[in-house]
Amino acid sequence: MRRFSVAVCLIICFAAVAALSACSGDERTRAEYEINCVYSEEGVLSVGETVEFSAEKDGQNRAYFNFYPLAMTEQAEITPLENSDVAGSVAVRSVTAGGKSTQYEFSGNNGFIVNLDKSYSSGQRVKISIDYDLTLPKGDKRLSITAKTVNLGNFYPILAVFDDKGEAVFCDYYGIGDPFYSETADYKVSVTVPSEYTVAASSYASSLDVDGDLTKYEYRQSAVRDFAIVMSKEYNVVSKNAGDTTVNYYYYADQTPEETVSLAAEALNYFSDRFLKYPFDTFSVAQATFSEGGMEYPLSCLVSDKLSVEGYRYALVHEIAHQWWYSLVGNDQVNESYLDESLAEYSAYLFFDEHNGYGLTSQNFIDEAVSAVKLCEKINQGREGFSPKVKQSLTEYGGEYVYVNMVYNKGLLMMESAENVLGREKTINRLSAYCKKYAYRIADTEDFLSAMGNLKPIILSYLEGKTALYP
Ligand SMILES: [Zn+2]
Repeated sequence: MRRFSVAVCLIICFAAVAALSACSGDERTRAEYEINCVYSEEGVLSVGETVEFSAEKDGQNRAYFNFYPLAMTEQAEITPLENSDVAGSVAVRSVTAGGKSTQYEFSGNNGFIVNLDKSYSSGQRVKISIDYDLTLPKGDKRLSITAKTVNLGNFYPILAVFDDKGEAVFCDYYGIGDPFYSETADYKVSVTVPSEYTVAASSYASSLDVDGDLTKYEYRQSAVRDFAIVMSKEYNVVSKNAGDTTVNYYYYADQTPEETVSLAAEALNYFSDRFLKYPFDTFSVAQATFSEGGMEYPLSCLVSDKLSVEGYRYALVHEIAHQWWYSLVGNDQVNESYLDESLAEYSAYLFFDEHNGYGLTSQNFIDEAVSAVKLCEKINQGREGFSPKVKQSLTEYGGEYVYVNMVYNKGLLMMESAENVLGREKTINRLSAYCKKYAYRIADTEDFLSAMGNLKPIILSYLEGKTALYP
Protein backbone atom coordinates (compact mmCIF):
# COMPACT_ATOMS: atom_id res chain seq x y z
CA MET A 1 0.00 0.00 0.00
CA ARG A 2 1.12 3.54 -0.36
CA ARG A 3 0.21 6.66 1.48
CA PHE A 4 0.89 9.39 -0.98
CA SER A 5 2.98 12.41 -0.37
CA VAL A 6 5.22 13.08 2.50
CA ALA A 7 2.69 15.46 3.90
CA VAL A 8 -0.32 13.42 4.74
CA CYS A 9 -2.02 11.92 1.70
CA LEU A 10 -1.91 8.24 1.24
CA ILE A 11 -1.62 5.65 -1.38
CA ILE A 12 -1.97 1.91 -0.99
CA CYS A 13 -0.87 -0.89 -3.24
CA PHE A 14 -1.63 -4.37 -4.57
CA ALA A 15 0.83 -6.83 -6.03
CA ALA A 16 0.49 -9.67 -8.60
CA VAL A 17 2.18 -12.99 -9.91
CA ALA A 18 1.64 -16.14 -13.00
CA ALA A 19 3.34 -19.00 -14.87
CA LEU A 20 6.36 -20.08 -13.01
CA SER A 21 9.92 -21.08 -13.36
CA ALA A 22 11.59 -23.87 -11.48
CA CYS A 23 12.33 -21.74 -8.45
CA SER A 24 8.75 -21.29 -7.36
CA GLY A 25 9.12 -22.89 -3.96
CA ASP A 26 8.30 -26.42 -3.01
CA GLU A 27 5.32 -27.41 -5.08
CA ARG A 28 4.68 -30.48 -2.97
CA THR A 29 3.98 -28.45 0.12
CA ARG A 30 2.16 -25.43 -1.27
CA ALA A 31 -1.45 -25.15 -0.21
CA GLU A 32 -4.10 -25.36 -2.91
CA TYR A 33 -7.16 -23.15 -2.77
CA GLU A 34 -10.26 -23.66 -4.83
CA ILE A 35 -12.61 -20.72 -4.46
CA ASN A 36 -15.91 -20.46 -6.29
CA CYS A 37 -17.92 -17.32 -5.77
CA VAL A 38 -21.09 -15.79 -7.06
CA TYR A 39 -21.81 -12.08 -6.74
CA SER A 40 -25.38 -10.86 -6.66
CA GLU A 41 -26.60 -7.34 -7.34
CA GLU A 42 -27.76 -7.24 -3.74
CA GLY A 43 -24.12 -7.01 -2.69
CA VAL A 44 -23.80 -10.56 -1.40
CA LEU A 45 -20.86 -12.74 -2.34
CA SER A 46 -21.58 -16.45 -1.88
CA VAL A 47 -18.33 -18.33 -1.53
CA GLY A 48 -17.43 -22.00 -1.55
CA GLU A 49 -13.80 -22.48 -0.59
CA THR A 50 -11.84 -25.71 -0.41
CA VAL A 51 -8.27 -25.60 0.81
CA GLU A 52 -5.83 -28.48 0.88
CA PHE A 53 -2.60 -28.00 2.79
CA SER A 54 0.17 -29.84 4.60
CA ALA A 55 -0.09 -30.17 8.37
CA GLU A 56 2.57 -28.06 10.07
CA LYS A 57 3.30 -30.40 12.94
CA ASP A 58 2.63 -33.84 14.31
CA GLY A 59 -0.67 -34.19 16.11
CA GLN A 60 -2.20 -31.16 14.44
CA ASN A 61 -5.94 -31.33 14.86
CA ARG A 62 -6.99 -27.77 14.08
CA ALA A 63 -6.58 -25.44 11.12
CA TYR A 64 -6.04 -21.71 11.54
CA PHE A 65 -7.16 -18.94 9.24
CA ASN A 66 -7.16 -15.18 9.02
CA PHE A 67 -10.70 -14.42 7.93
CA TYR A 68 -10.37 -10.69 7.30
CA PRO A 69 -14.01 -9.94 6.41
CA LEU A 70 -14.87 -10.62 10.08
CA ALA A 71 -13.07 -7.34 10.85
CA MET A 72 -15.51 -5.52 8.61
CA THR A 73 -18.61 -6.42 10.59
CA GLU A 74 -20.41 -4.60 13.41
CA GLN A 75 -18.96 -7.06 15.92
CA ALA A 76 -15.30 -6.31 15.21
CA GLU A 77 -13.36 -4.30 17.77
CA ILE A 78 -10.41 -3.74 15.46
CA THR A 79 -11.53 -2.65 12.02
CA PRO A 80 -10.28 -0.73 9.00
CA LEU A 81 -13.78 0.67 8.52
CA GLU A 82 -14.40 4.34 9.20
CA ASN A 83 -17.59 6.13 10.18
CA SER A 84 -18.39 6.84 6.56
CA ASP A 85 -18.40 3.10 5.77
CA VAL A 86 -21.29 0.68 6.24
CA ALA A 87 -20.26 -2.58 7.92
CA GLY A 88 -20.77 -5.91 6.20
CA SER A 89 -21.60 -9.33 7.63
CA VAL A 90 -20.41 -12.90 7.39
CA ALA A 91 -22.71 -15.93 7.55
CA VAL A 92 -20.92 -19.27 7.61
CA ARG A 93 -23.11 -21.92 5.99
CA SER A 94 -21.03 -25.05 6.48
CA VAL A 95 -17.54 -26.23 7.33
CA THR A 96 -16.14 -29.68 6.64
CA ALA A 97 -12.80 -31.36 7.33
CA GLY A 98 -11.87 -34.56 5.54
CA GLY A 99 -15.33 -34.48 3.96
CA LYS A 100 -17.18 -34.50 7.29
CA SER A 101 -19.07 -31.68 8.91
CA THR A 102 -17.00 -30.22 11.72
CA GLN A 103 -16.91 -27.61 14.47
CA TYR A 104 -15.32 -24.20 14.04
CA GLU A 105 -14.86 -21.10 16.12
CA PHE A 106 -14.08 -17.43 15.65
CA SER A 107 -10.91 -16.43 17.43
CA GLY A 108 -10.01 -12.93 18.56
CA ASN A 109 -10.83 -10.16 16.16
CA ASN A 110 -10.73 -11.95 12.82
CA GLY A 111 -9.22 -15.39 13.40
CA PHE A 112 -11.05 -18.55 12.37
CA ILE A 113 -10.26 -22.03 13.70
CA VAL A 114 -11.54 -25.29 12.25
CA ASN A 115 -11.45 -28.63 14.06
CA LEU A 116 -9.96 -31.34 11.84
CA ASP A 117 -11.48 -34.77 11.45
CA LYS A 118 -8.44 -36.42 13.11
CA SER A 119 -4.89 -35.72 14.20
CA TYR A 120 -2.53 -35.26 11.28
CA SER A 121 1.19 -35.81 11.17
CA SER A 122 3.56 -33.17 9.87
CA GLY A 123 3.40 -32.90 6.09
CA GLN A 124 0.21 -34.94 5.76
CA ARG A 125 -2.35 -33.28 3.51
CA VAL A 126 -5.50 -31.86 5.09
CA LYS A 127 -8.62 -30.84 3.20
CA ILE A 128 -11.14 -28.32 4.49
CA SER A 129 -14.19 -26.73 2.93
CA ILE A 130 -15.79 -23.50 4.12
CA ASP A 131 -19.01 -22.15 2.60
CA TYR A 132 -20.16 -18.68 3.55
CA ASP A 133 -22.13 -15.67 2.44
CA LEU A 134 -20.45 -12.31 2.64
CA THR A 135 -22.60 -9.20 2.66
CA LEU A 136 -20.10 -6.66 1.44
CA PRO A 137 -19.35 -3.48 3.35
CA LYS A 138 -20.16 -0.23 1.58
CA GLY A 139 -17.50 2.44 1.39
CA ASP A 140 -14.06 2.62 -0.14
CA LYS A 141 -11.88 -0.02 1.47
CA ARG A 142 -10.09 -3.08 0.08
CA LEU A 143 -13.29 -5.06 0.55
CA SER A 144 -16.20 -2.81 -0.33
CA ILE A 145 -18.92 -1.90 -2.70
CA THR A 146 -17.70 1.52 -3.78
CA ALA A 147 -19.00 4.27 -6.04
CA LYS A 148 -17.40 2.82 -9.17
CA THR A 149 -16.01 -0.59 -8.29
CA VAL A 150 -16.62 -3.69 -6.23
CA ASN A 151 -13.34 -4.32 -4.41
CA LEU A 152 -12.80 -7.92 -3.33
CA GLY A 153 -9.48 -7.78 -1.50
CA ASN A 154 -8.79 -10.23 1.35
CA PHE A 155 -12.26 -11.68 1.00
CA TYR A 156 -11.70 -15.32 1.94
CA PRO A 157 -10.24 -17.32 4.86
CA ILE A 158 -6.50 -17.61 4.23
CA LEU A 159 -4.25 -20.00 6.12
CA ALA A 160 -2.31 -18.42 8.95
CA VAL A 161 1.47 -18.63 8.80
CA PHE A 162 3.11 -20.58 11.62
CA ASP A 163 5.85 -18.83 13.56
CA ASP A 164 9.17 -20.27 14.77
CA LYS A 165 7.48 -21.59 17.90
CA GLY A 166 4.92 -23.52 15.88
CA GLU A 167 2.06 -21.15 16.67
CA ALA A 168 -0.36 -19.80 14.08
CA VAL A 169 -0.06 -16.04 13.56
CA PHE A 170 -3.37 -14.21 13.61
CA CYS A 171 -3.27 -10.73 12.11
CA ASP A 172 -5.77 -8.24 13.50
CA TYR A 173 -7.07 -6.07 10.68
CA TYR A 174 -5.81 -2.66 11.81
CA GLY A 175 -6.78 0.52 10.08
CA ILE A 176 -3.14 1.32 9.36
CA GLY A 177 -0.71 -0.59 7.18
CA ASP A 178 -1.45 -3.80 5.34
CA PRO A 179 -1.85 -6.31 8.18
CA PHE A 180 -1.53 -9.39 5.98
CA TYR A 181 0.80 -12.36 6.18
CA SER A 182 0.59 -15.48 4.06
CA GLU A 183 2.56 -18.17 2.27
CA THR A 184 2.45 -18.66 -1.48
CA ALA A 185 -0.16 -21.14 -2.67
CA ASP A 186 -1.84 -22.40 -5.83
CA TYR A 187 -5.26 -21.04 -6.72
CA LYS A 188 -8.19 -22.14 -8.79
CA VAL A 189 -10.82 -19.43 -8.63
CA SER A 190 -14.10 -18.75 -10.32
CA VAL A 191 -16.31 -15.73 -9.97
CA THR A 192 -19.78 -15.44 -11.48
CA VAL A 193 -21.11 -11.92 -11.89
CA PRO A 194 -23.89 -10.07 -13.69
CA SER A 195 -22.63 -9.69 -17.26
CA GLU A 196 -22.48 -5.89 -17.12
CA TYR A 197 -19.39 -6.21 -14.95
CA THR A 198 -15.81 -6.47 -16.21
CA VAL A 199 -13.56 -8.34 -13.80
CA ALA A 200 -9.88 -7.75 -13.03
CA ALA A 201 -8.04 -10.23 -10.82
CA SER A 202 -4.76 -11.69 -9.59
CA SER A 203 -4.55 -13.73 -12.78
CA TYR A 204 -5.92 -13.64 -16.29
CA ALA A 205 -9.16 -15.53 -16.90
CA SER A 206 -8.45 -18.91 -18.45
CA SER A 207 -12.07 -19.13 -19.51
CA LEU A 208 -15.07 -16.91 -19.78
CA ASP A 209 -18.51 -18.42 -19.83
CA VAL A 210 -21.53 -16.25 -20.57
CA ASP A 211 -24.83 -17.80 -19.58
CA GLY A 212 -27.73 -15.44 -20.03
CA ASP A 213 -27.27 -12.45 -17.75
CA LEU A 214 -24.35 -13.99 -15.88
CA THR A 215 -20.70 -14.35 -16.79
CA LYS A 216 -18.35 -16.80 -15.11
CA TYR A 217 -14.62 -16.00 -15.02
CA GLU A 218 -12.24 -18.85 -14.23
CA TYR A 219 -8.64 -18.53 -13.13
CA ARG A 220 -5.73 -20.81 -12.35
CA GLN A 221 -2.71 -19.27 -10.73
CA SER A 222 0.31 -20.99 -9.22
CA ALA A 223 2.57 -19.79 -6.43
CA VAL A 224 0.90 -16.58 -5.34
CA ARG A 225 0.55 -15.11 -1.90
CA ASP A 226 -3.08 -14.03 -2.17
CA PHE A 227 -5.85 -13.60 -4.70
CA ALA A 228 -7.88 -10.44 -5.23
CA ILE A 229 -10.68 -9.42 -7.56
CA VAL A 230 -11.97 -5.98 -8.58
CA MET A 231 -14.91 -5.40 -10.87
CA SER A 232 -16.78 -2.52 -12.40
CA LYS A 233 -19.57 -1.89 -14.85
CA GLU A 234 -17.57 1.02 -16.23
CA TYR A 235 -14.24 -0.57 -17.02
CA ASN A 236 -12.46 -0.01 -20.30
CA VAL A 237 -9.38 -2.12 -20.88
CA VAL A 238 -6.13 -1.27 -22.63
CA SER A 239 -3.15 -3.63 -22.85
CA LYS A 240 0.55 -3.49 -23.54
CA ASN A 241 3.32 -6.05 -23.56
CA ALA A 242 6.22 -5.87 -21.15
CA GLY A 243 8.63 -8.59 -22.26
CA ASP A 244 6.68 -11.85 -21.95
CA THR A 245 4.04 -10.25 -19.78
CA THR A 246 0.77 -8.68 -20.88
CA VAL A 247 -0.13 -5.66 -18.80
CA ASN A 248 -3.87 -4.97 -18.67
CA TYR A 249 -5.15 -1.66 -17.44
CA TYR A 250 -8.78 -1.50 -16.28
CA TYR A 251 -9.93 2.12 -16.01
CA TYR A 252 -12.94 4.39 -16.17
CA ALA A 253 -11.42 7.83 -15.59
CA ASP A 254 -8.10 8.43 -17.28
CA GLN A 255 -7.45 11.00 -20.00
CA THR A 256 -4.32 9.16 -21.15
CA PRO A 257 -4.80 5.42 -20.55
CA GLU A 258 -2.17 4.48 -23.16
CA GLU A 259 0.41 6.50 -21.23
CA THR A 260 -0.61 4.89 -17.97
CA VAL A 261 -0.32 1.35 -19.28
CA SER A 262 3.04 2.25 -20.87
CA LEU A 263 4.28 3.50 -17.52
CA ALA A 264 3.16 0.26 -15.89
CA ALA A 265 4.97 -1.80 -18.53
CA GLU A 266 8.09 0.34 -18.20
CA ALA A 267 8.14 -0.07 -14.42
CA LEU A 268 7.57 -3.82 -14.71
CA ASN A 269 10.48 -4.09 -17.16
CA TYR A 270 12.73 -1.92 -15.01
CA PHE A 271 12.19 -3.92 -11.82
CA SER A 272 12.50 -7.16 -13.81
CA ASP A 273 15.92 -6.02 -15.01
CA ARG A 274 17.03 -4.78 -11.63
CA PHE A 275 15.74 -7.35 -9.16
CA LEU A 276 14.41 -10.54 -10.72
CA LYS A 277 12.56 -11.26 -13.93
CA TYR A 278 8.84 -10.90 -13.31
CA PRO A 279 7.79 -14.54 -13.57
CA PHE A 280 4.18 -14.28 -14.65
CA ASP A 281 2.54 -13.81 -18.00
CA THR A 282 0.04 -11.21 -16.89
CA PHE A 283 -0.24 -8.15 -14.68
CA SER A 284 -3.37 -6.10 -14.09
CA VAL A 285 -3.80 -2.53 -12.93
CA ALA A 286 -7.30 -1.81 -11.67
CA GLN A 287 -8.40 1.76 -11.15
CA ALA A 288 -10.75 1.80 -8.18
CA THR A 289 -12.60 3.92 -5.73
CA PHE A 290 -10.32 3.46 -2.80
CA SER A 291 -9.52 5.24 0.44
CA GLU A 292 -5.75 5.03 0.00
CA GLY A 293 -3.52 5.70 -2.97
CA GLY A 294 -3.18 2.11 -4.06
CA MET A 295 -2.96 -1.47 -2.88
CA GLU A 296 -0.85 -4.37 -3.99
CA TYR A 297 -2.00 -7.92 -4.62
CA PRO A 298 -0.28 -10.69 -6.55
CA LEU A 299 -0.28 -10.02 -10.31
CA SER A 300 -2.38 -6.93 -9.79
CA CYS A 301 -2.77 -3.62 -8.06
CA LEU A 302 -5.45 -1.09 -7.27
CA VAL A 303 -4.82 2.58 -7.91
CA SER A 304 -7.19 5.15 -6.47
CA ASP A 305 -9.26 7.30 -8.79
CA LYS A 306 -8.85 10.24 -6.41
CA LEU A 307 -5.19 11.05 -7.11
CA SER A 308 -3.52 13.85 -9.01
CA VAL A 309 -1.75 12.90 -12.26
CA GLU A 310 1.64 12.75 -10.53
CA GLY A 311 0.20 11.01 -7.49
CA TYR A 312 -1.37 8.39 -9.75
CA ARG A 313 1.95 7.70 -11.48
CA TYR A 314 3.80 7.45 -8.22
CA ALA A 315 1.23 5.15 -6.64
CA LEU A 316 1.26 2.93 -9.71
CA VAL A 317 5.02 2.47 -9.68
CA HIS A 318 5.09 1.95 -5.92
CA GLU A 319 2.42 -0.75 -6.21
CA ILE A 320 4.24 -2.45 -9.06
CA ALA A 321 7.42 -2.55 -6.95
CA HIS A 322 5.40 -4.57 -4.43
CA GLN A 323 5.39 -7.42 -6.93
CA TRP A 324 8.95 -7.99 -5.75
CA TRP A 325 8.59 -6.77 -2.16
CA TYR A 326 5.52 -8.46 -0.63
CA SER A 327 4.38 -10.69 -3.48
CA LEU A 328 7.53 -12.56 -4.50
CA VAL A 329 9.46 -12.01 -1.27
CA GLY A 330 6.90 -12.27 1.49
CA ASN A 331 7.12 -10.79 4.98
CA ASP A 332 5.21 -10.36 8.20
CA GLN A 333 3.42 -7.13 7.34
CA VAL A 334 2.24 -6.56 10.90
CA ASN A 335 5.60 -6.71 12.65
CA GLU A 336 8.01 -5.93 9.81
CA SER A 337 6.04 -3.77 7.44
CA TYR A 338 9.16 -1.82 6.46
CA LEU A 339 10.48 -4.92 4.66
CA ASP A 340 8.03 -4.39 1.83
CA GLU A 341 7.07 -0.72 2.16
CA SER A 342 10.53 0.83 2.53
CA LEU A 343 11.82 -1.27 -0.36
CA ALA A 344 8.81 -0.36 -2.51
CA GLU A 345 9.47 3.31 -1.79
CA TYR A 346 13.14 2.98 -2.62
CA SER A 347 12.30 1.06 -5.80
CA ALA A 348 9.90 3.79 -6.94
CA TYR A 349 12.57 6.38 -6.15
CA LEU A 350 15.07 4.45 -8.30
CA PHE A 351 12.61 4.21 -11.17
CA PHE A 352 11.81 7.91 -11.29
CA ASP A 353 15.46 8.82 -10.80
CA GLU A 354 16.27 6.89 -13.96
CA HIS A 355 13.15 7.82 -15.95
CA ASN A 356 12.61 11.50 -16.60
CA GLY A 357 9.52 12.96 -18.13
CA TYR A 358 6.92 11.84 -15.61
CA GLY A 359 6.92 15.11 -13.71
CA LEU A 360 8.43 13.48 -10.65
CA THR A 361 11.88 14.49 -9.50
CA SER A 362 13.61 11.98 -7.32
CA GLN A 363 15.52 14.62 -5.37
CA ASN A 364 12.16 16.01 -4.34
CA PHE A 365 11.29 12.65 -2.80
CA ILE A 366 14.40 12.83 -0.67
CA ASP A 367 13.97 16.48 0.28
CA GLU A 368 10.32 15.97 1.15
CA ALA A 369 11.07 12.81 3.10
CA VAL A 370 13.75 14.62 5.13
CA SER A 371 11.41 17.52 5.97
CA ALA A 372 8.50 15.23 6.79
CA VAL A 373 10.50 12.96 9.07
CA LYS A 374 12.12 15.92 10.81
CA LEU A 375 8.72 17.45 11.46
CA CYS A 376 7.29 14.16 12.67
CA GLU A 377 10.19 13.62 15.05
CA LYS A 378 9.96 17.21 16.27
CA ILE A 379 6.23 17.03 16.93
CA ASN A 380 6.47 13.69 18.67
CA GLN A 381 9.70 14.23 20.59
CA GLY A 382 9.19 13.30 24.21
CA ARG A 383 5.72 11.89 23.62
CA GLU A 384 5.21 8.73 25.62
CA GLY A 385 5.35 5.70 23.36
CA PHE A 386 6.93 7.54 20.44
CA SER A 387 9.97 5.96 18.90
CA PRO A 388 11.92 7.07 15.81
CA LYS A 389 12.46 3.42 14.80
CA VAL A 390 11.72 2.39 11.24
CA LYS A 391 10.99 -1.14 12.43
CA GLN A 392 8.04 -1.39 14.78
CA SER A 393 4.83 -3.38 14.78
CA LEU A 394 1.74 -1.66 13.36
CA THR A 395 0.39 -1.08 16.87
CA GLU A 396 3.61 0.49 18.13
CA TYR A 397 3.77 3.41 15.73
CA GLY A 398 0.82 4.93 17.52
CA GLY A 399 -1.05 6.00 14.41
CA GLU A 400 -1.01 6.63 10.73
CA TYR A 401 1.12 9.77 10.77
CA VAL A 402 4.10 8.22 12.53
CA TYR A 403 3.71 4.96 10.62
CA VAL A 404 3.88 6.70 7.24
CA ASN A 405 6.85 8.79 8.25
CA MET A 406 8.86 5.98 9.79
CA VAL A 407 8.15 3.25 7.24
CA TYR A 408 7.75 5.13 3.97
CA ASN A 409 9.78 8.30 4.38
CA LYS A 410 12.46 7.27 6.83
CA GLY A 411 12.59 3.83 5.22
CA LEU A 412 13.39 5.52 1.90
CA LEU A 413 16.10 7.61 3.57
CA MET A 414 17.52 4.44 5.13
CA MET A 415 17.96 2.87 1.70
CA GLU A 416 19.27 6.09 0.20
CA SER A 417 21.89 6.28 2.98
CA ALA A 418 22.93 2.73 2.18
CA GLU A 419 23.20 3.64 -1.48
CA ASN A 420 25.35 6.66 -0.64
CA VAL A 421 27.84 4.37 1.06
CA LEU A 422 27.94 1.45 -1.32
CA GLY A 423 26.85 2.97 -4.61
CA ARG A 424 23.66 2.27 -6.48
CA GLU A 425 24.72 -0.69 -8.56
CA LYS A 426 26.06 -2.68 -5.65
CA THR A 427 23.07 -1.81 -3.49
CA ILE A 428 20.71 -3.01 -6.20
CA ASN A 429 22.79 -6.14 -6.71
CA ARG A 430 22.37 -6.98 -3.06
CA LEU A 431 18.63 -6.41 -3.23
CA SER A 432 18.51 -8.58 -6.31
CA ALA A 433 20.39 -11.41 -4.59
CA TYR A 434 18.02 -11.08 -1.61
CA CYS A 435 15.02 -11.23 -3.94
CA LYS A 436 16.31 -14.29 -5.77
CA LYS A 437 17.05 -16.11 -2.54
CA TYR A 438 13.68 -15.49 -0.92
CA ALA A 439 11.31 -15.36 -3.90
CA TYR A 440 8.10 -17.32 -3.15
CA ARG A 441 9.20 -17.57 0.47
CA ILE A 442 9.11 -15.37 3.56
CA ALA A 443 12.05 -13.24 4.65
CA ASP A 444 12.56 -11.49 7.97
CA THR A 445 14.83 -8.75 9.28
CA GLU A 446 17.68 -11.16 9.94
CA ASP A 447 17.53 -12.40 6.35
CA PHE A 448 17.44 -8.85 5.02
CA LEU A 449 20.36 -7.65 7.15
CA SER A 450 22.38 -10.68 6.18
CA ALA A 451 21.74 -9.97 2.49
CA MET A 452 22.79 -6.34 2.94
CA GLY A 453 26.27 -7.38 4.17
CA ASN A 454 28.40 -4.46 5.34
CA LEU A 455 25.43 -2.09 5.06
CA LYS A 456 24.00 -3.75 8.16
CA PRO A 457 25.20 -1.09 10.65
CA ILE A 458 23.62 1.74 8.66
CA ILE A 459 20.37 -0.08 8.18
CA LEU A 460 20.24 -1.15 11.81
CA SER A 461 20.76 2.42 12.96
CA TYR A 462 17.54 3.35 11.16
CA LEU A 463 15.61 0.24 12.15
CA GLU A 464 16.50 0.76 15.81
CA GLY A 465 15.93 4.50 15.81
CA LYS A 466 19.54 5.46 16.51
CA THR A 467 19.47 7.74 13.50
CA ALA A 468 17.15 10.64 14.19
CA LEU A 469 16.64 13.55 11.83
CA TYR A 470 15.58 15.90 14.60
CA PRO A 471 17.18 17.86 16.13
ZN1 LIG B 1 3.04 0.02 -0.40
